[in-house]
Amino acid sequence: MRCTHWRRVPPHLLCEAWERAVSGCVDRVVRCQSAVHESGPHHGFLDDLAPYGTALWLRWSGADDVALAALPDCPVVAPRPGGDACCLFAGHGGAHTWETLDVRRTPPDEGTPP
Ligand SMILES: [Zn+2]
Ligand SMILES: [Zn+2]
Repeated sequence: MRCTHWRRVPPHLLCEAWERAVSGCVDRVVRCQSAVHESGPHHGFLDDLAPYGTALWLRWSGADDVALAALPDCPVVAPRPGGDACCLFAGHGGAHTWETLDVRRTPPDEGTPP
């Protein structure tokens, strides 16, 4: 299960994100990408940054406590052949995104020897 918190990006942070983002496309409302968590701030993905392997996140923990954060990508890959990369940032708490994916939407493995 993923955290269900959403946050509107404050206008002044949205302007800054547009200037820093690689694609220049930043959502005005973001959802926390972390697994469900009881404590700690929420992190919504905004866009990739240069250099490669870094991303811009919106970090918030309350109505007035919100900021941009440039964080390196989580380097942990799912422990299976062709494993998925984690979509979170390095040092995040809780589960990796490939641990919380809805398994019903994961395609079956192909070419598995009998
Ligand atoms: Zn959250
Ligand atoms: Zn991770």
